Amino acid sequence: MTGAQRARLMIRLAEIVERDISELAKVETRDNGKLIRDAEAQVAQLPQWLRYFAGLADKINGEAISDAHPNFFVYTRREPIGVVAGILPWNAPLVLMMFKLAPALAAGCTFIAKPSEFTPASTLEFAKRVDEAGFPPGVFNVLSSSARETGASLVAHEGINKVAFTGSTKTGGEIMRLCSDPIKRVTLELGGKSPNLIFADANLDDAIPSSVWSIYYAAGQSCEARSRVLVEASVYDEVVARFAEYAQQIKVGDPLDPETQMGSLISTAHRDRVHGFVKQGIEEGAVVVTGGGPGDGKGAFYRPTVLAHVDNGMTVAQEEIFGPVVTIMGFGDEKDAIEIANDVRYGLFATVWTGDPARGHRVARAIKSGMVGINMPYTAFPGIPFGGYKQSGFGRELSIDTLDLYLETKGVLFSTSPKPFNPFGL
Ligand code: NAD
Repeated sequence: MTGAQRARLMIRLAEIVERDISELAKVETRDNGKLIRDAEAQVAQLPQWLRYFAGLADKINGEAISDAHPNFFVYTRREPIGVVAGILPWNAPLVLMMFKLAPALAAGCTFIAKPSEFTPASTLEFAKRVDEAGFPPGVFNVLSSSARETGASLVAHEGINKVAFTGSTKTGGEIMRLCSDPIKRVTLELGGKSPNLIFADANLDDAIPSSVWSIYYAAGQSCEARSRVLVEASVYDEVVARFAEYAQQIKVGDPLDPETQMGSLISTAHRDRVHGFVKQGIEEGAVVVTGGGPGDGKGAFYRPTVLAHVDNGMTVAQEEIFGPVVTIMGFGDEKDAIEIANDVRYGLFATVWTGDPARGHRVARAIKSGMVGINMPYTAFPGIPFGGYKQSGFGRELSIDTLDLYLETKGVLFSTSPKPFNPFGL
């Protein structure tokens, strides 16, 4: 198909998804416990990504390289990489798939989505809309399975040309190994342990509620959760007290109730894992200011938890907990704050709260992470690159450059010399 034909289908799909936001969101919420209002907001983003990349589909051009050699006429072609396997986690199934599918379709690739064994339902529902939009059979495929081995078999399959993965750092490492034989292109969006720096000159009335949202949103099951809050010593006690006060006000409960602010964790097994980290934190010397145990009701609820007097060497300050648990640490000055913020193996997102814009930009420059928000806790808009430094992975999604990750560049050389190339003089 031409780029313009692909774009037309993508825009048709965007219209169908827009029509069915409420239905798709309900499936997502029932499957993974995400709040209905968050699921609706995420499904509402899908048409945006489709339209953004549809706009690029008919602008994929090579270039003429006229001056490489006097007797050469050279041009490049941009060709689709081929068959893409999208391996997906459970925490935001549709939106994380679309981060990969939209650029893949724009580039002219075909796509096999492998949803998480915990949350296949929304991807299967979405597939019906792809058919309705009129995509040819085989362009979009779903491989759902309750066996974890399925992901590895798909990645290792010689018919796959590229793997686009979102999930844990551990699985990302296994996928990278699998992509070495036979060799495949791979991009990895992995885990995080993102810092949230609060300087004493920040407007605390803005910084604290926003920081509370940045960890407890999606019950902490979000890769960019700002789970390490670093606070300047002079306001440490005030921030801890107010943080805990807000955490206690969060309405935890049925994710289908529009009033609920924090739903269930994905499973009771995951809740046990989260609680295990909290117990280890206490053993290592952290203090539970609020929360610290399961919530009431039928569901894998866990109470919004604040751990204070945390040292950066503790397990709770270094490991991704992926639950509603924040660690609050103190720092002395700007240099100290940057050192602690960077002293972790991840580098996905950081937030800096300060009343001094110059300090905000200085700190943003010094922090090793894919995204830094200055007095701004959110990302994931079309056109803004999303991805990690260090063990948070490589490759950027959501930006114009993302298209390159689904394209190969071919150089075509043509000799304009009157004599053909014949160095052996044969
Ligand atoms: P996971 O790594 O356990 O599983 C992710 C997917 O990989 C699942 O579909 C799973 O079946 C599959 N899989 C498991 N083993 C595999 C193998 N050997 N080969 C191929 N596929 C395999 O992750 P999860 O628990 O589903 O998701 C939570 C993790 O995802 C967290 O670490 C979180 O930070 C991360 N995440 C990252 C981002 C980001 O953009 N950086 C976004 C969301 C989630």
